[in-house]
Amino acid sequence: MTNKFNLTVLPGDGIGPEVIREAIKALKVVASNFDLDFEIEEAMMGGCAIDAFGNPLPDEALAKCRAGDAILLGAIGGPKWDTTDPNKPRPEQGLLGLRKGLELFANLRPVKVFKSLIASSTLKPEVIEGVDLLVVRELTGGLYFGASAREGTKAFDTLEYHDFEIKRLLAVAFDLARKRRRRVHSIDKANVLESSRLWREIAIEMGGDFQDIELIHQLVDNCAMQLIRNPKQFDVVATSNMFGDILSDEASMLTGSLGMLSSASMGDTYPALYEPIHGSAPDIANRDIANPIATILSVALMFRYSFNLDAPAQAIEGAVDAVLEAGWRTADIMSEGKKQVGTTQMGDLICSEVEV
Ligand code: NAD
Repeated sequence: MTNKFNLTVLPGDGIGPEVIREAIKALKVVASNFDLDFEIEEAMMGGCAIDAFGNPLPDEALAKCRAGDAILLGAIGGPKWDTTDPNKPRPEQGLLGLRKGLELFANLRPVKVFKSLIASSTLKPEVIEGVDLLVVRELTGGLYFGASAREGTKAFDTLEYHDFEIKRLLAVAFDLARKRRRRVHSIDKANVLESSRLWREIAIEMGGDFQDIELIHQLVDNCAMQLIRNPKQFDVVATSNMFGDILSDEASMLTGSLGMLSSASMGDTYPALYEPIHGSAPDIANRDIANPIATILSVALMFRYSFNLDAPAQAIEGAVDAVLEAGWRTADIMSEGKKQVGTTQMGDLICSEVEV
């Protein structure tokens, strides 16, 4: 297998460039440890691209993203570009354009509770200790993409799924379960929605081809409750766009911290996109206090899912774990008796753990 990779980096706005800088630092240390060669191409997307080109996703940026092996994004947006004028460009259009332009139909959000951060969750330690789940959300279909309109005093949105959209999403979920604990919860509302009945039929049919995976069907309202009651029962949670939007936010808060959570979006044709789930945090930008861990963990996801390299991914995750165990914290995860550090120092600490 090749050990040469092309990475497209989109630092974005606000704290984006700060957390990306730390993630690239960690990537370089891991790459050198594992004898991997990375060619890094930067491109502008979001508010910075509006300032430079009047377009949140310039053609050149999309072309660079398509040409590489993977994409790492910081975050985009900020008050500078907030507008209600529909004729003015907005940073989010860049991200939506990227998802569309790269046909990223599956969104992956891992939720893993770090032992040393159990205290920052709002749930009891015995409920969340050991939680390690992955939400796989359909990203380009369903309710958010169906026909919608206002007609006088009435408004409607349409929830539509084609079988191929469900199949390709579930295929990703089953495949990922094979690399994990071999359990898939397929989440639907089959007691009410026709599109959910199609979803369930397809899940049952595909389950036949994945005999080694335990397949559990759960209604979305029950799942929302189970995530709080007993989140340890979940391994891979596969669901549609809107259900996934809500459930992944609920699941991510089990850990109690936005600055710790990474995500991946992937399709069949173009490279996958890795990013922290948080935004550009303009309130703390350029102060060296943002938590870079979510972006550093996004690099671990990239090794695991785009390059099928588990050892470098584990090296990064292990380093983050060790730094937290040693009591180092950025301001957002700070608690009594711990040692507070800034963005750069947190990045340095993680790099030196990766090195040992
Ligand atoms: P946000 O995630 O940027 O910030 C929410 C709160 O969490 C803020 O108090 C912020 O300081 C804190 N926070 C976020 N990330 C942090 C980190 N790494 N370390 C420490 N604290 C952190 O959400 P918001 O304030 O609603 O949005 C700000 C901007 O980001 C908006 O323009 C929004 O559109 C954009 N946004 C972008 C993305 C993305 O790029 N994928 C996602 C969400 C929001």
